[in-house]
Amino acid sequence: MLNSLRAIIQEVHSESEVGRVLEVIVERIHEAMGVDVCSVYLCDDENDRHLLVASHGLDPEAIGNTALKKGEGLVSYVAGRAEPINLKNAKLHPRFKLIEGIGEEIFPSFLGVPLISARRVHGVLVVQGQEERRFDEQEEAFLVTLGAQLAGVIAHADAMKGVPFVHQPSQPQIPVDARFQGLRGAPGIAHARAIVVQAPLQPESVGRREVTDIDQELEQFERALAQAREEIAALAGRLEGRVGKDEQAVFDAYQHMLDDNSLPAEIRAKIREGSWAQGALLEVVSEHSRAFANFEDEYLRERAADVRSIGRRLLDGLTEIGREQRDLSEGIIIIGEEITADIVAGFDQKYLKGIVSTRGSANSHVAILARALNVPTVVGAVDLPILDLEGQELIVDGHYGRVFASPSKQLADYFESVIEEEAEFNDELTALKDEPCETRDGLRIRLWVNIGLASDLTRSLDMGAEGIGLFRTEVPFMTSQTFPTEEEQRLIYREQMEAFNPRPVTMRTLDIGGDKSLSYFPIREDNPFLGWRGIRVTLDHPDIFIAQARAMIAANADLECQLRIMLPMISNLLEIEEACALIDRAYAESREEGLKVKRPQIGAMIEVPAAVYQARHIAAKLDFLAVGSNDLTQYMLAVDRNNSRVADLYQELHPAVIWALREVAVAAHRESKPIGICGEMAGSAAGAILLVAMGYDVLSMSASNIPRIKWVLRQISLMQARKILARVLRMSDAQEIREFMRKQILSLGLERMMPVHVPEVFKASA
Ligand code: PEP
Ligand code: MG
Repeated sequence: MLNSLRAIIQEVHSESEVGRVLEVIVERIHEAMGVDVCSVYLCDDENDRHLLVASHGLDPEAIGNTALKKGEGLVSYVAGRAEPINLKNAKLHPRFKLIEGIGEEIFPSFLGVPLISARRVHGVLVVQGQEERRFDEQEEAFLVTLGAQLAGVIAHADAMKGVPFVHQPSQPQIPVDARFQGLRGAPGIAHARAIVVQAPLQPESVGRREVTDIDQELEQFERALAQAREEIAALAGRLEGRVGKDEQAVFDAYQHMLDDNSLPAEIRAKIREGSWAQGALLEVVSEHSRAFANFEDEYLRERAADVRSIGRRLLDGLTEIGREQRDLSEGIIIIGEEITADIVAGFDQKYLKGIVSTRGSANSHVAILARALNVPTVVGAVDLPILDLEGQELIVDGHYGRVFASPSKQLADYFESVIEEEAEFNDELTALKDEPCETRDGLRIRLWVNIGLASDLTRSLDMGAEGIGLFRTEVPFMTSQTFPTEEEQRLIYREQMEAFNPRPVTMRTLDIGGDKSLSYFPIREDNPFLGWRGIRVTLDHPDIFIAQARAMIAANADLECQLRIMLPMISNLLEIEEACALIDRAYAESREEGLKVKRPQIGAMIEVPAAVYQARHIAAKLDFLAVGSNDLTQYMLAVDRNNSRVADLYQELHPAVIWALREVAVAAHRESKPIGICGEMAGSAAGAILLVAMGYDVLSMSASNIPRIKWVLRQISLMQARKILARVLRMSDAQEIREFMRKQILSLGLERMMPVHVPEVFKASA
């Protein structure tokens, strides 16, 4: 049974349509366990029942037509208890209820397991047999294991409204004030028309459609095909001479897949059989990418991604996706499955009002970019019916991670008034630009900027940034086709330093690995966040490190501004010694070349728990410390900052994180070294108040947060902040701290920093 378990799981994962998954699973379980009946019942909450959606052994006519009211029968009993029930003779159980006419009468033995995903019961998987016996432990374990796999598939399909029988095949009509929940990406409200910039390549999201005119479907497909061929040729042309032969070969492979005899022939055949163009495309693409994905050979497996990429391009052509962005004359909200930083960068900022993606989480880089650009953003909105929203009016509520579609006039007016209030507040804040960031009792705090994802230097200075607290140098590396040369790097760094001169500039050495990869330097690891990342990579490649250090030092020549070189992902003192030796060498070489350069200050990022407890030793060896709270939170709490499934557990106000931050501040003070922070936490009102109370000298944040944080800190005293911190340090729970901080912010009269509250009337879910 163990072998069949693996085979079934593999088969389930290679199917892309949930209807097929259900059919496969009941058939394979029947074969592997030798049971007479295997069925799946799903919760149909709208109709308060459990609906039979797949079965081997029961009357096929009953599928989709037979249901048990919630609370009735053994299926409801399993769902209610959220535990398996294993019965020798089901008929003797008080909860047994016979459904007449579906062929169930003759099966006494019963084993039902709940289908649970993310704590929610989605349905029940049942096996039944003619022989009166209890199923043994192995059989039970087998069914529980498959139930867990099936639950994941159903939960996803349920979110996409794609479960057969439970949802209608297609629901293009979006109800008024339809609400979709996601995660906060960037605060603020946007109200504009939606443009789909990236279609999800999934049958559930494309839906189904009756075809009345096959020729029209074919014609539409031919147009999309011609467009995809043109785009591929143009892309290849653009890169010619800039990339090597191997990379160019990828485009040849794409063109080959678009050859008349290749994928298009199969898609046309399916359309001629009566499928609509999008459906035919998805079917063919899924078949091929599945075939490639099953290969042992890694090269062939990778080709699955090529097929999907071609599929997505054709689908975009069919759905007219991406056309409108060229000709914008009004504000838009871009929506897509996985909106990356380059997609955002491709839009004219004047018109980009909001961003919504079905993937990602609050600390993925697109969310950081959106905050830097001040564009209200919701990420991880998994159940957003992307394609149905093309051209629709949307409201993005980045404060609460919500999206409203087809808003009523009442809802739209309400949010318009909130937008107006926020704009007024922003205008008031610009008046603070040249005022110092000083608490009411005279403590001066430095507000610096994090730069790199948006190299908007002027904007940072306009917002009142007093220095650069973090320049993410990996960004120019990521946008380049090869490692940038030392001179190319020098020019990039020089631009930042000249713009900020005489203010201090903190340059972080290359922090690749984790979720930041270079196409020309791939790192493949099972556990990249715990692997070859940050300083670990560059110390293993001293050539890269020293070239970067020399470029930074040379960029600083003849300038008054203080260069600070910052080392990411430090987890032991040896790394510091090695890095300092290399920087010393770079400094000596630059002087030998005759450059007029100052010795750079060197500091470490504290973002690994080990560094928290060695902070004093680290501070003793260096010029400054800066906490990277984004990673520190992820490593302290063992929560991947990009994983929307555990996003609720990513809590910067977790007591463990707060105590760690305090520990680092105390260590730096004992060594009389400056202590800063450059994670996103510094840009929130609650974070800034607590950090100031702990004694952080420098708060570095996205440019758009600078005026708000200055406004907050100018209205409180260090005394007040310390009292708040003292109470927080006595709390043991993140939720309690969050709620306490919310109340404190309100009682300090800082409610304008709080997200708006939508009246209850709008809260009903779509
Ligand atoms: C951090 O980890 O807090 C940080 C500032 O670095 P990054 O977000 O680039 O990993
Ligand atoms: Mg980091």
